[in-house]
Amino acid sequence: MFGISSQLASQTINKNTVWKCLVALELVSGEITQFISDRMIVEGWAVGVRVVIKRGYKGIRVFKGLSTIISPLKMALQFMEETCLKSRGLNVTRKSERLFLVDSAQDPTNKHVVTAQADGLTCSCMKFKCLKNRMVKEAPQLVKAIGQITLLDGNHLAYTEQFNTETMEMVGKIHIQCHHVRAVMREAFNAFSSTEYLLNWKQVINDYRVQRDDWMSSERWSQELDNIPELGEFKPKTR
Ligand SMILES: [Zn+2]
Repeated sequence: MFGISSQLASQTINKNTVWKCLVALELVSGEITQFISDRMIVEGWAVGVRVVIKRGYKGIRVFKGLSTIISPLKMALQFMEETCLKSRGLNVTRKSERLFLVDSAQDPTNKHVVTAQADGLTCSCMKFKCLKNRMVKEAPQLVKAIGQITLLDGNHLAYTEQFNTETMEMVGKIHIQCHHVRAVMREAFNAFSSTEYLLNWKQVINDYRVQRDDWMSSERWSQELDNIPELGEFKPKTR
């Protein structure tokens, strides 16, 4: 996490999330205030997230200072808990076989597009893009920790292993998730872990096909084709 950009830090190790970690660790209590926020310094270190809250006075009240390091796993747990909480109550609409529209948490008139592929989900929101583009490079410890989170049933929250028939070996994958992705996983795929998502994917896609006629609008075709990168570019036949 050393050298984490401010863009990624604001999405992952922001002062709010860090404060909730400190509450969970019973180092502080109550809500974060502007006064405390102004005195808080958060830095990404290789071993975790370093937090310093400078001692301060407000009237006759004295605020004790604090200095600690939060482990990547604690940070990841808090981050994913918030992601799951935020995904509750978001409206999910299915647009086509693999495309879903999800309300933006801040502005319900604004929608984000979640694409459900056989190997995982992607979202069009800024948060997902930031996480996807920056996390592996800037905060590998946090990505690894997200992969380690397990649910009560023992399933990993965001880690899957699949057998690759070409290389004949097991391939592990950590699935980056924003709150829109979590909403689609839960609402459309009845999945709380990435493993459940992969298991249910085919069924949910097939059910949609059965419900519909074979007819497919040209708009839907182009949408579907846009989302299958391995097919490459379509070029008209020249002859
Ligand atoms: Zn999203």
